[in-house]
Amino acid sequence: MIIQSATYLISSPDYTKCPKADRPEYAFIGRSNVGKSSLINMLCDNHKLAKTSGSPGKTQLINHFDIKSFAGNTAAGKPDAWYLVDLPGYGFAKVSQNQRKQWEKMIENYLRKRENLINIFVLIDSRHSPQQLDLDFVNQLGEWEVPFCLVFTKADKETQRVVAKNVKDFLDAMRKTWQFLPRNFVTSAEKKMGRDKMLQFIEACNNE
Ligand code: GDP
Repeated sequence: MIIQSATYLISSPDYTKCPKADRPEYAFIGRSNVGKSSLINMLCDNHKLAKTSGSPGKTQLINHFDIKSFAGNTAAGKPDAWYLVDLPGYGFAKVSQNQRKQWEKMIENYLRKRENLINIFVLIDSRHSPQQLDLDFVNQLGEWEVPFCLVFTKADKETQRVVAKNVKDFLDAMRKTWQFLPRNFVTSAEKKMGRDKMLQFIEACNNE
């Protein structure tokens, strides 16, 4: 897939205010500071698209980006249009109980009711061993029957061996309760690693 353009569209307080569900949609979520903005910018080849390191917990909004792309490796490929969605992250230390409840309600409604949502990319920091907060979140997605992939971020910050062990440990932790494991991508926004595979995955989903 080649990205032709990526443009910020709108930020919505809940799923009913989102743009018309007339094309495939892919959402990105993870703990604060996991590298979500950097990954989105890397995928879209646009350094200023998603704001990196914004003020934690303040933007509890569903952010839509309008993506135009071509299938395959050249601009001669079939043109496609889809939405990329930047969701507010979880695991902020400083948010109040009330804000957290609000976030949960908004996210649950969006994830369960948004009809054009094809897949959630759940971002996990590849430098760390499995974190309960991330496992709880993917288990919740399982209960809701929402399709997702895992995206291990910042892979350039650790040795390949450590990253591979953290990925394996996360999948092993899931294996305790999951019969099938989700697809996973190992990425680095710094090194543009994992970009082609993620875009190929999106292209394949768009064509289904
Ligand atoms: P967000 O809060 O999840 O949107 O995270 P950001 O994208 O703002 O990234 C948080 C911090 O991690 C920033 O200082 C980024 O420069 C850094 N970061 C993000 N992705 C990578 C990566 O792939 N490699 C390295 N080395 N640093 C990264």
